[in-house]
Amino acid sequence: MDKVKAKKHLGQHFLTDENIAKKIADTLHFEGYDNVLEIGPGMGVLTKYLLEKPVNTYVIEIDTESVDYLNANYPKLHNHIISQDFLKYDINKTFEGKQFAIIGNFPYNISSQIVFRALELRSQVAEFSGMFQKEVAERICEKKGSKTYGILSVLVQAFYDAEYLFTVHENVFNPPPKVKSGVLRLKRKENFALPCNEKLFFTVVKTGFQQRRKTLRNSLKSLNLSESLREDTIFDLRPEQLDVQQFIAITQKIEADAI
Ligand code: SAH
Repeated sequence: MDKVKAKKHLGQHFLTDENIAKKIADTLHFEGYDNVLEIGPGMGVLTKYLLEKPVNTYVIEIDTESVDYLNANYPKLHNHIISQDFLKYDINKTFEGKQFAIIGNFPYNISSQIVFRALELRSQVAEFSGMFQKEVAERICEKKGSKTYGILSVLVQAFYDAEYLFTVHENVFNPPPKVKSGVLRLKRKENFALPCNEKLFFTVVKTGFQQRRKTLRNSLKSLNLSESLREDTIFDLRPEQLDVQQFIAITQKIEADAI
């Protein structure tokens, strides 16, 4: 069967370097889950290495031309090809509440949304690795104090240990993207339940970073903090100065304040 013609609106940049594909497939530990979901397999450059691993490999692909290609070339995938949009599909139709890992050379136009969706599914997503635009991969793994530290860094690192693994040059893709790529791995923490109201934690982090130059006293005004809580010196800080533990501490203070 002919190769798939790259479609720009689907973020298709096909990896052409087999060694890098193998290296990405090797980033997962394959422990603590029996299922792996590859998002956006395209022509299966990563998939073929995943199929050698001691897990059930599933792929989800929005492009029907790629799905036809996978069906024709990877008989081992048989009924594990989900021809759907990952952002819209209810993955538990496939996994029924089971633990799984996510992997991919992701479509860069929706890579942040993929991470947010994975966070929603965190009680099932034990491990997550793959390729992003380099800056996005770096931002996710960034620590406090850096200019690029933001919502994704805090929310991901609250539940996962994040590791930037290696950089990939644009010339190993067809067509080459305009940016460099970076591969990261997220391993869910042993105890990933936060000692605070998790919904409020998400709100505090997102609201705080909406105005990253302002102190949290200013940016969290919409949360109606009491006069006495507003005097707490932790609110003198700007969001980029707080690590996960401090965001948890703020959330706990706001929770106590509301009682
Ligand atoms: N993994 C392949 C392809 C990477 S390009 C490789 O490394 O060569 C990104 C892939 O994601 C494309 O195949 C594209 O069709 C697919 N894709 C884009 N948006 C998607 C979505 N919302 N859900 C599932 N797959 C998607």
